[in-house]
Amino acid sequence: NSDILAKLGRRLRLGMVGGGFDSVIGETHRIAFQADGFYDLVAGAFSIDREVARRTAAALLVGGDRLYDDYREMARREAARADGIDVVVIATPPQIHQEVAVAFLSAGIDVICEKPMTRTVAQAEELAAIVAASGRLFVLTHCYSGFPMVRHARDLVRSGALGRLRMIEAEFAGGAPGVAVEPADPAERHWRFRAASMGPEAILGEVGSHAHHLMGYVSGLRPNRICARMQTFAAGREVYDNAYLAFDYPDGAVGRLWASYVAVGTQHGLSLRIYGETAALEWREEDAEYLRLRPLHGPETVLRSGQDGTSDLVARSARFRPGHPEGYPLAFANLYAEAASALVAMRTGGDPSAFTAHLPTVFDGLEGMRMIAGAAASNREDARWQPL
Ligand code: NAD
Repeated sequence: NSDILAKLGRRLRLGMVGGGFDSVIGETHRIAFQADGFYDLVAGAFSIDREVARRTAAALLVGGDRLYDDYREMARREAARADGIDVVVIATPPQIHQEVAVAFLSAGIDVICEKPMTRTVAQAEELAAIVAASGRLFVLTHCYSGFPMVRHARDLVRSGALGRLRMIEAEFAGGAPGVAVEPADPAERHWRFRAASMGPEAILGEVGSHAHHLMGYVSGLRPNRICARMQTFAAGREVYDNAYLAFDYPDGAVGRLWASYVAVGTQHGLSLRIYGETAALEWREEDAEYLRLRPLHGPETVLRSGQDGTSDLVARSARFRPGHPEGYPLAFANLYAEAASALVAMRTGGDPSAFTAHLPTVFDGLEGMRMIAGAAASNREDARWQPL
């Protein structure tokens, strides 16, 4: 990174919308974007709650004139400053991602945005067009694609190590008490358990979209049909907390995705298995350093992050010597490092495409929204297949 920053002669200036001390994910972003020293956090509209926003800014040493009550004002004023932010991170609830992204893109500021990308497919289509017209970088933080062994899995599929793909199976099925049990007092419900915020199918944006992105990222295949069944198990809950999705792919491959908040006893529960004609592979986030390759003939091979024989990208995606587990925050940091490299290239006459190949894009976000809309329609029609 020292070479990359030397081209720019400074760190990238970053602002945050959301991600205050009242949020679930804000601190993970800060750990991730600080991991490689590419960014300085200099501005923010951190919270809907002014007092929380003030406390967050004070603790993060964000100066008073760079703390904003409103993200629109932040976009306007930052764009007008000579030392304004280069890039904004959007870590608010998803209902407002689109309007925040548009405010910053229109002000000429690059965007790193949490998933699910928008509230509706129409908003996602509109945003894709705005990103294309803006020429700005738009990165969607499907952070699990940053794991070295996920990237190696993708390389293996592309190299033909599995033969022709047949079945793609992804699970994001957890059941920790915080998601498996509905709070006794409905006023304590987080927005992700309120039907009014992201619809009754919110689970598909919250966890399903990550699994869906991994299926596409690793397999390289895009489904053309979807069917879905969804259930609500937790007492008093108004959104679905379990979903079974099935996919058909144009070349005959098939897929399944299980998203759940009530897989009790499982903490996080993200995994991917891909079966081809000649071999299968399995990756589990709770054991993320390992990738298991199981050929039709011959013994299982357990591949480990940091071993020789991987691509430069996979080697670069791990920071420490083999044997040191890295995990979630540094997988997330890989997206920030690649975004930084692309942002510097955009500002110094370089070619950002060398760094954007693995970054989830606005089109990945659009596919995610189409998956959610297709699943919702199928579930309403008793699991009738829907085109994608
Ligand atoms: P949260 O509700 O816990 O936090 C949202 C934050 O946004 C809070 O700080 C809130 O005050 C702030 N906010 C709300 N409206 C705002 C506004 N108008 N202006 C400024 N700030 C505002 O939500 P969360 O669980 O942290 O999730 C945020 C996003 O991150 C969601 O899209 C979620 O799906 C995603 N997420 C991603 C991952 C991941 O692994 N990539 C994990 C968890 C959450």
